[in-house]
Amino acid sequence: MATLTKTVQKAKTAAKTQAKTGPLELKQYIGGRWLDGSSGKEFVSTNPADIRQTIGRLTGADKSDALKAIQAAEKALPAWRATPAPVRGRILARAVEIARRRRDELAVLMTREEGKILPEAKGEMDKGITLMDWFAGEGLRLGGLTAPSELPQNLLYTVRAPLGVVSIITPWNFPWAIPVWKISPALVAGNAVIFKPASLVPAMAVEIARIFEEAGLPQGVLNLVMGSGSAIGDVLVEDPRIRAVSFTGSNEIGKRVHTLCGARGAKATCEMGGKNPCVVWEDADLDLALGGVLKGAFGSTGQRCTATSRLILHEKIAEPFIRTLIAEIKKIKVGDGLDSSVGMGPAVDGSQLQTDLDYIGVAKKEGAKLLWGGRRLEDGELKHGYFIEPTLFDVVKPSMRIFKEEVFGPVLGVTRVRSFDEAVSASNAVEFGLTSAVYTRDLSLALRFVDWVEAGMVHVNSPTVGGEAQVPFGGVKGSGVGEREMAKEGLHFFTELKTVFLDYTGRRRQSNLY
Ligand code: NAP
Repeated sequence: MATLTKTVQKAKTAAKTQAKTGPLELKQYIGGRWLDGSSGKEFVSTNPADIRQTIGRLTGADKSDALKAIQAAEKALPAWRATPAPVRGRILARAVEIARRRRDELAVLMTREEGKILPEAKGEMDKGITLMDWFAGEGLRLGGLTAPSELPQNLLYTVRAPLGVVSIITPWNFPWAIPVWKISPALVAGNAVIFKPASLVPAMAVEIARIFEEAGLPQGVLNLVMGSGSAIGDVLVEDPRIRAVSFTGSNEIGKRVHTLCGARGAKATCEMGGKNPCVVWEDADLDLALGGVLKGAFGSTGQRCTATSRLILHEKIAEPFIRTLIAEIKKIKVGDGLDSSVGMGPAVDGSQLQTDLDYIGVAKKEGAKLLWGGRRLEDGELKHGYFIEPTLFDVVKPSMRIFKEEVFGPVLGVTRVRSFDEAVSASNAVEFGLTSAVYTRDLSLALRFVDWVEAGMVHVNSPTVGGEAQVPFGGVKGSGVGEREMAKEGLHFFTELKTVFLDYTGRRRQSNLY
């Protein structure tokens, strides 16, 4: 424990030193070399809790860099795909050890670059490390199946082959876990990767590439290109040498990626937004539900695809539940995530903050009742960051935009219901279907909810957030298209199945089977 506190202290001191010595000078990582981008445009990442601090600075990539990265990946591919899967897994296992060693330091960097509070950043580091570890082990299990043939002395089996060069495009809100949960299966399956992170979090992306470099990944197997998605995204999606795209981000871009890949017959998996409901039933353990709602709605400043943004309350417990909820929301201290007394960090940037405020304005106009919050926080030191109050609305109707559209901020809306059918139809009355939660002591009700809710994930008596390496993660309806992530499904996306028909009779086949 003492060592841990010391490490965090060291990391915080390093952060302070870096704040004084100036921003990190970041480079693209192409073909195993650290290079400046060719766009001539400077990109900076700033601390959303204090925009006077620049975290990282780089010259952005343009299309020519993206093409160079594809070329480097193609060159590295044959040797990498010929490397036995268990050996590829061992390189990943070395990356896991490096990430474990650097966990606290990287968590501090994450808090400074993305804004989430330090315990959340550490949690994200841990989640990502577990995922890498799980996929490292998959190097030993990347097998197919054998099946009995209808023919004598014939062996029927399948093998999993890598796809080739793949693009991985990620959002800013989980700058460590999402890239590693995509990169790890892609690598262990034998693909060469072009990684394009969100422009808001380049410093974390560079650290990911460094970890794999230090682990001994051959040059060109992982390439990092950082630049505007609108400028280089199409190359990474449309180039015929890119065999698959794994994307996480907004619906607008995800649908575009999916359409472009579909048009040329390339694989795509797109994990997109959410508008996740949490149902609290009249018989629920209300303390448990309260904790789950607070964590789901205001954890990570509501900037999670899995955030709880709709609270569906049984009318019998609505009044007391809302009263306690407001009392708890009032206790959330908003501020810099490195301060251990803070419970909620800033919005990631000015644009997200403005989106939050705009949605709050729209909700008021449409007749939702503001119960708490709703304002930007600018007192004292807070004026240097993008802080907003945790916000609660009541009387939210399914016709309202605040009910239907993803805000991606700490804004929760309450809808009251009287029956199970009403709860299910309210839960399903949106275009999204990522995750959901129900709090009840009634097993039958819980399982009927599992049956009927339109969501890729269902939590019973736990918040809408979270995922585990060994089970699939992803959504239905507008929240996701393509293969699920994590688990075997996440690995299989990056492979092609080959079915092998092996005849060992040594004779001409006398068969009419086709
Ligand atoms: P975003 O604006 O869609 O960006 C995602 C990534 O796509 C970024 O790297 C972005 O680059 C890139 N991009 C932008 N334009 C592109 C184009 N034309 N072609 C290819 N790539 C392009 O999303 P975001 O604001 O970073 O993330 C928030 C969204 O992600 C929310 O909707 C959230 O729900 C969703 N999300 C979903 C999941 C899930 O698992 N379902 C998990 C986390 C987040 P630039 O940064 O350079 O623009």
